[in-house]
Amino acid sequence: MHNNKQMTLSAPFSGAVITLTQIPDPVFANGAMGDGVAIDPLDDVLHAPCAGVIINVARTRHAINLRADNGSEWLLHVGIDSVELEGEGFQALVKEGQRVTEGQPLLRIDLDYVARHSRTLISPLILLNSDRFTLSLARTSGSINVGEPLLTMTPVARQEQDSPSSDIRARQVRGSIRVAHTGGLHARPAALVRQTARQFSSHVELHFAGASASTDSVTGLMGLGIAEQDEVEVVCLGHDSEVALQALLKALSTPSPDEKLSTPVTADLPRTEHAEREPGVMIGVTASPGLASGPLFRLDTIELGDDPGGHRPDEQRQIFTEALAQVRADISGSLDHQNHEQSAIFATHLAMLEDPALLGIAHDAIDQGHSAGHAWSEAVLRQCAVLENLDNPLLAERANDLRDLRQRMLLSLLGDARDVEVPPGAIVVARELTPSDLLMLAECGVGGICMADGGATSHVAILARGQGLPCVVALGATLLDVAIGQEVVLDADNGRLEISPDEARLRGIQGLRSQRFEQRQRQQQHAHLPALTQDGVNIDIAANVASRADAENAQLNGADGVGLLRTEFLFVDRSTAPTEDEQRAAYQAVLDAMDAKPVIIRTIDVGGDKQLEYLPLPAEANPVLGLRGIRLGQARPELLDQQLRALLRVTPLARCRILLPMITEVSELLAVRGRIDELAQALGLTERPQLGVMIEVPSAALMAEQLAEHADFLSIGTNDLSQYTLAMDRDHAGLAARVDALHPALLRLIAMTCDAAHGKGRWVGVCGALASDPLATAVLIGLGVRELSVSPPNVAQIKAQVRELDTRHCQTLAHHVLNLSGAEAVREACRTFQTQVVAQKNIA
Ligand code: PEP
Ligand code: MG
Repeated sequence: MHNNKQMTLSAPFSGAVITLTQIPDPVFANGAMGDGVAIDPLDDVLHAPCAGVIINVARTRHAINLRADNGSEWLLHVGIDSVELEGEGFQALVKEGQRVTEGQPLLRIDLDYVARHSRTLISPLILLNSDRFTLSLARTSGSINVGEPLLTMTPVARQEQDSPSSDIRARQVRGSIRVAHTGGLHARPAALVRQTARQFSSHVELHFAGASASTDSVTGLMGLGIAEQDEVEVVCLGHDSEVALQALLKALSTPSPDEKLSTPVTADLPRTEHAEREPGVMIGVTASPGLASGPLFRLDTIELGDDPGGHRPDEQRQIFTEALAQVRADISGSLDHQNHEQSAIFATHLAMLEDPALLGIAHDAIDQGHSAGHAWSEAVLRQCAVLENLDNPLLAERANDLRDLRQRMLLSLLGDARDVEVPPGAIVVARELTPSDLLMLAECGVGGICMADGGATSHVAILARGQGLPCVVALGATLLDVAIGQEVVLDADNGRLEISPDEARLRGIQGLRSQRFEQRQRQQQHAHLPALTQDGVNIDIAANVASRADAENAQLNGADGVGLLRTEFLFVDRSTAPTEDEQRAAYQAVLDAMDAKPVIIRTIDVGGDKQLEYLPLPAEANPVLGLRGIRLGQARPELLDQQLRALLRVTPLARCRILLPMITEVSELLAVRGRIDELAQALGLTERPQLGVMIEVPSAALMAEQLAEHADFLSIGTNDLSQYTLAMDRDHAGLAARVDALHPALLRLIAMTCDAAHGKGRWVGVCGALASDPLATAVLIGLGVRELSVSPPNVAQIKAQVRELDTRHCQTLAHHVLNLSGAEAVREACRTFQTQVVAQKNIA
C-alpha cells in the first residue's frame, strides 16, 4: 500500500520514551542507521508497532526487521550491543515472512538477563528507508504504554525526493570501480551488493553501459550484464551517501570467497569414480532399497493453463502476498539445515523474492486482472529472458534460480489443486522432494524415486522405506538433465540409476522382479510367526509407524508390535496444537490397530530438521544441536505434560511404553519419570507404563549403564547416533554415502549399550534405519539387540533373515567387525558372512 496518507505507529513496549539523539550509541544517535526513536522497556515482550511482514529475524534474535504496509521498513532493536548475547535471553515468537498484526508479540525477552549482560535495555526503533518518510513523534519524553500512539510518518512527496535543491540531492555522491567478482555480477555477488547497500539509508544505483539499476533489485543488477573487470559507476543518494559509497566500492572490488559455488555441491569422490567407470549409470546413495524400471518422470514441472483474466486484483494481491510469505518462510526455515554453500545460494533466492523489479511486474499483472500465479510466472519468465539474452553464460545459467522460485511460488499458490498426473510405474526424478510429495507419489503408484540431493536418513527416505518405494538420493545435479520419458532402471539396492538400459537388461529386470515377488510371497506367508534364530532365540521384529494407517499396515505385515511411534508426524500440517483429547485418540487408535501387541510411543521430537507449523521455534545457529527432543519438553513443560497425560489415558496402559528422545543424561529421565508419577497420581492411576530412553547421542551410549538403572528399556536410534558420532549431517547430500551406521564406531557404542543394559537386566532394541537393513541383522543380533523395529514392508524379510541365523555365529561376526577399520570393511564382512549362511543352508 503506497499512498500519501499518514500512518501511526504504536509503542512496541511500555516504558520511557527516548529521542534519537539521546540513545547512548553514536551509530543510532547520529542517525546513520535512519531516523527513529527509542524506548527503555518495562515489559518483556516486543510487540509489532504496526501491521506488516517480518523481513528478518536476527540470527541472534535481538532485532527484527518489519516492513509496514505503507512500504516503510523498521528495525526493532532490543538493547544496544545485545548482538553479543548470541541469542541468550531472547525468544523469537515470529518467523521470517510471517504477516503480523499491530500489537502482535514478536519477541520475548528475559529482561533481567539482558539488562545484566548488555550495556543497556534502551531499544531503538529505526526507520531504515528514512529518505521516503518524515517522522513526527507523538511524545519526546515521559512514559508510554504499549499500544499507545508513538509517532506518525508521512511519505516524502516525489517532487521533494527528486528536487535538485532538496537536502538529499545535495548529498548525492558517485564513484567508479572495476568489478572483481569471478564471472561478474551474477546472483550471489548481486545479492551481496544489495545486502551491503541495505545497511545504509541512502538510495544506491549502479550504472553500466548506458543502463542503471537500483541495488534493491538483484535481478535488475544481474540484468545489467556486468562482467568481471567491467567498470561500473555507483551513485548514492541520501544522508549517509559517503559511507555507503565507500562500502559499495569495496563490496564490488573484493572478490567473494565462495566463487566456486557455481559448481554442484552434491558430488563426492566415490560416486564420480563409479560414474566414470560405467557410462550411462549414475551412482547415488540408497535411501530405500528395491529394483524398478519405468519411464522417467520429472515432478517439479508445473505448466499453467491459459489465464482468462478478469480476476479481482485485491483478492489476487492477498493470495500473492500470502504465498510469498509462505515461500520465504519455507526457504528461511531450510537455511538452518544447509551447509554454507547451499545457504549462500538460498539466501540469494530470498533476496530475489523481495526484488522490487520482479514484484513490480507481478503486481502490475495482477492489477490488469491476471491471477497471482500467472502474474508471478510472467514476472519470472520476463526476467529469465533478460538474463538469457545477455551474452554471459554464467548469468544466463542463473535464470534457473528464478525458475526455481517460479516453481516454489506456483506450488504454494496451487496448493492441493496441483494437477500432477504421474504415470503409474514411473521413476520420478526431482531435485529434492518433500515428505508430502513423497506420500502423494506413493499414492499414484510410482515405481521409484531418485533425487539429485537429499540424504539417506532424511524423513523423505524414512517415508520411502515405509512405503517400500525404491529410492536413491544424492545423484547430483546432472540427474535433472536426463531426458524425461526415457525408460530407466532404478537399482536402489546398489544406489544406481541406469539411464540407457538395453532391451535385454529391461527384460532381465522384469525377471528379477518376478523372482523377488515370489520370494516375498514366501516370506509373507510366515510373516505372522515369531522370528526365532536357528538356536531358538526370539527376536521381536516390530515396526516404525507414524499413524494409525501405518500401524494397520504393520499389523497386516506381521509386526510383533510398534517399536517406534514418531508422534511428531501425527501433528504435522496443522496450524494449531492438538488438544489432549485429540492426542489420546491418536495414540489409542495405534494401540487398537495392534491387537494385543506392545506399542512404544515416543514423546514429541521436533526441532532439528523437524518443524511444526503450530510450534514456531526460535531460529538457532545449530538447530540439530539445539532445542530438540526432550530439551523442548524441558523448555516447554506444559507441552510435555499434556502429551504425558494423553498417554497415561490410553487403555490398556500395560501395552503402552513411553520412549524419550535425545536423552543425554540420567536427570532428564528421572525428571520425566517423576512427572509421570505426579500426573498418574492426579489421574488416579495405580499402574505406570514402561519408560525407555532413546540411545541416539554418544553421551547416552556412554552413560547406558546409569540410564539402564532407571529405564525399563533402551532403544537405539541409529539415524541420529550416526549423525552425532560421525559429526556428519544426516541430511547432507554430499556426505550421505558416509553416514553409515555400520561404522565400527557406532557398533562399539551399540555393543557398549547392550552390555550395560544386560548387566542391569534391561532389553535393547534398535529403531533407527539400520534395523531395516538385512545386511546388519546378524551383527545387531550378535551385539545383543533383541528387538528390531523396521519399516512395515520389511517385517517379513527381516524375520526371514533372523530365522537363518545362529546367535553364536552372529556373536563371532560382531566381535570381528568391532575391530575393523571402517564402514565399508564392515559391510564387506557382513556380505561374506551372508554368503556363508546361504551356502550352509543350501548344503543342509
Ligand atoms: C533415530 O535417530 O535413529 C530415530 C529413530 O529417530 P528419528 O529418525 O525420528 O530422529
Ligand atoms: Mg532420532
